[in-house]
Amino acid sequence: MKKVFVALVAIISIVLLAETALAKRIFVTIGSGSVTGVYYPTAGAISKIVNKGKKDHGIRATVESTGGSAYNVNAMAIKELDMAIVQSDVGYRAYNGIGDFKGKQVKKLRSVFSIHPEPFHIVASDKSGIRTFRDLKGKRVNIGNPGSGQRSTSEVLFGVTPFGVNDMKVESLKASEAPDFLRDGRIDAYFYTVGIGSANIMDVASSHKVNIISVGDLVIEKLTKGRPYFVAVDIPGNVYPGNPNPIRTFAVKATLLTTTDVSDVVVYNVVKMVFENFEEFKKTHPALSILTPDQMMQGLSAPFHPGAVKYYKERGWIK
Ligand code: GLU
Repeated sequence: MKKVFVALVAIISIVLLAETALAKRIFVTIGSGSVTGVYYPTAGAISKIVNKGKKDHGIRATVESTGGSAYNVNAMAIKELDMAIVQSDVGYRAYNGIGDFKGKQVKKLRSVFSIHPEPFHIVASDKSGIRTFRDLKGKRVNIGNPGSGQRSTSEVLFGVTPFGVNDMKVESLKASEAPDFLRDGRIDAYFYTVGIGSANIMDVASSHKVNIISVGDLVIEKLTKGRPYFVAVDIPGNVYPGNPNPIRTFAVKATLLTTTDVSDVVVYNVVKMVFENFEEFKKTHPALSILTPDQMMQGLSAPFHPGAVKYYKERGWIK
């Protein structure tokens, strides 16, 4: 009888211990983008770095491949994602409830840090004959799947261009599908707001003659006026095979966002792990190699999350 009692007590204690351990584990889901972009490996690196310390902080991070920035914001709004990488312009429109987020404002968005610049890439097949932005008129152009950052940005872009989005034959493919469609001649060009050197464009440029097309100075001038999250940049020459010259375009920043639904402890530990393993983080992708903590405090569209503020104050990076 006594033995049975001891055994029962032992079993109950084990179950209780396991339950407390489980209760202490916090799951964090990070939204990214298409697997051929830069968000996916970047979010992968963040989660890997966070999980290295899971015994200490109890946080277990996982990454989801998603449709892109606008999808990520909407998924955070309904708590399907805890954190996500989002283009700074999309974050701005969502936080302020303007443009494609009119009537769908997401006020609870909070910034964690900004990441790499994302130039707006226009990838055209050589045989399409597209050499300038104007040549896109009448062509079959993939502006991106609904939910993608490039599609959201396109709406703003075509508000300042000499011709409208309906003057092209618009496709709504996912970023990962666009290169094959271009190679097969089913589209003439595609848009992709993405970190320089993304596998998506590197692959198609290595196997096919493609030209990266400039947006043009006039359009860039109109676009950047009064929109501080758009900046004029050059995609350097020789990044993409067959494109030896710098290409003038505009860029946004990739930003890691979260919401007020996520606790200070979680955000603090995510930020701490990333900056304490910063060299490892920067090695994830060439687009991240140039990052500095200073730059990562800039280019944000929503207020900092208090958990991030706590860490940055400890480091003396913000006042
Ligand atoms: N900027 C793209 C978007 O918001 C994603 C780029 C990437 O996956 O690296 O949809």
